[in-house]
Amino acid sequence: MSFEGFIIHHSSCTSINGVGYDFWIGADSVVTSAPLLTDPSHIHICLQGNFNRSYDLLGTAEKQQLFIASKLIMELSRQYDISPLFLYPHSSTCPGEEFPWNELVIYPSHGYH
Ligand SMILES: [Zn+2]
Repeated sequence: MSFEGFIIHHSSCTSINGVGYDFWIGADSVVTSAPLLTDPSHIHICLQGNFNRSYDLLGTAEKQQLFIASKLIMELSRQYDISPLFLYPHSSTCPGEEFPWNELVIYPSHGYH
């Protein structure tokens, strides 16, 4: 199986309707993974909450969720040989125009946290 990248959702997303996500990052930063990956081309990661806000406006718990997400993406990118830079939004409203993408990407030049 080879993946083209990651698709990021937040739980304000209404269009998934029970299909589920491959990885869910709860408001308490606990990661729940689905037993099977559902999409052969992308890995779907959902952050619980509304992340259509700039990083400065997010609370401590939400910033922690983004940090956990960045570590998860790094780990999955190694495991499945996907570039951690191949991150895509689900739609124009999910996770939203204000989503702080830069916080999700650990650029190789920054090293591993
Ligand atoms: Zn979505």
